[in-house]
Amino acid sequence: MSTIIYPTSNLKTGETLSIARGEGVYVYDDQGNKYLEGMAGLWCTSLGYNHPELIEAATQQLHNLSYSHMFGGKTHQVGKDLAEKIRSMVPVDDAHIFFGNSGSDANDTQIKLLRYYFNAIGKPEKRKIIARKRSYHGITVASACLTGLEVNHTNFDLPVEALGIIRTDAPYYLREKLAGESEAQFVDRIVGNLEKQIIAEGPETIAAFIAEPITGASGVIIPPAGYYEKVQALLTKYDIFFWADEVITGFGRTGNDFGCTTMGIKPDMMSLAKQLSSAYLPISAAVVKGGIYQAMIEPSNQLGVFGHGYTYSGHPVACAVSLKTLEIYQRDEIFARAASNGEYLQAGLQQFADHPLVGEVRGRGLIAAVDLHNRASDEAFPATVPYRLQQACQDHGLILRAVGGTAIAFCPPLIISREQIDELLGKFARALDDTL
Ligand code: PLP
Repeated sequence: MSTIIYPTSNLKTGETLSIARGEGVYVYDDQGNKYLEGMAGLWCTSLGYNHPELIEAATQQLHNLSYSHMFGGKTHQVGKDLAEKIRSMVPVDDAHIFFGNSGSDANDTQIKLLRYYFNAIGKPEKRKIIARKRSYHGITVASACLTGLEVNHTNFDLPVEALGIIRTDAPYYLREKLAGESEAQFVDRIVGNLEKQIIAEGPETIAAFIAEPITGASGVIIPPAGYYEKVQALLTKYDIFFWADEVITGFGRTGNDFGCTTMGIKPDMMSLAKQLSSAYLPISAAVVKGGIYQAMIEPSNQLGVFGHGYTYSGHPVACAVSLKTLEIYQRDEIFARAASNGEYLQAGLQQFADHPLVGEVRGRGLIAAVDLHNRASDEAFPATVPYRLQQACQDHGLILRAVGGTAIAFCPPLIISREQIDELLGKFARALDDTL
């Protein structure tokens, strides 16, 4: 029994591990045991723990202005500086930014921005959103409707249809291919299905297609070559926005600045959180291209105020920490370092590709998954097996995460060194053998 209702947990299990402090890429539990943080917390602590400059940025801002809001256009310099910095980094044309506190609320905001925009331009019927199976876009009522994972829907009676969410295929070749289907045939089939769905629903009713460039929480799914090129062409053909959910893939994670760069996507909208502040404080950004924002300005006199905002939208302390985070990324060339050490991690993980428990090793930059598979019977293991492996890793002082029912994910802080990657690989090898 516990006073805290733990998020995303089996309520019967209760408490599992009590973390007391963190330093660099390591965390320590309340018994003093040390763990290599192979998941950067929840895919977020890019600059590791106890970073003196981030602590200093927060402390100074707390002294200077601990809180101010942004309702009605009230503003502050650190928020404006952060918006300019994000605008200079994202591959979104003439980017405009709405601040929030989490990836989930950034996605809620995007839904509202889409509705407001299409009302503003006189196309209120263009409101449906295509989201994929096996996707993770958050957990609020609206963002959970976008999320394509059963576990986040069961027992919550979410208003998926009322919100106009259309579910399309996941680009997960290993688990979704038909017998004998090549990667190219798989891509053609699922993109063909997507086009059929667009035509059946009516393109004039569809506002956007949302995708994580590389799906994170449901298994680090990397679409086969050609997938995004074909999807992007379809969206252009039918005048549908590409909405990139970069909450995990943003800021150097995939070996480039953004997952969109790695996967060759040109987004109209982008959702950011997590590594935006290296998770020192909660902050998110819903980014839209200038064309969307500009079109809303004039009609907003007739439509009424854009009645959406959080008490903590543009929280000055979170903005200060985020701005410092982005400055450090640039000054210390963190993305280039992550790309180079990412290649080292991916090469190191290949040693597990022929392991009897492993079906596939995949990744880009500093995000990866080892997908478990029973080679003897050519079947996925029950979901208990990845959890057993997660526990075995923890027993060896390594934090990893079972994801997507069949895989284990790797997402270390971007500052991890090659020596620490060797340590991670060694611990993982021992844990994998323990799971046999
Ligand atoms: N979008 C993606 C791609 C995510 O991975 C997550 C969280 O893992 C979210 C949205 C939701 O973010 P948050 O947990 O900050 O609400």
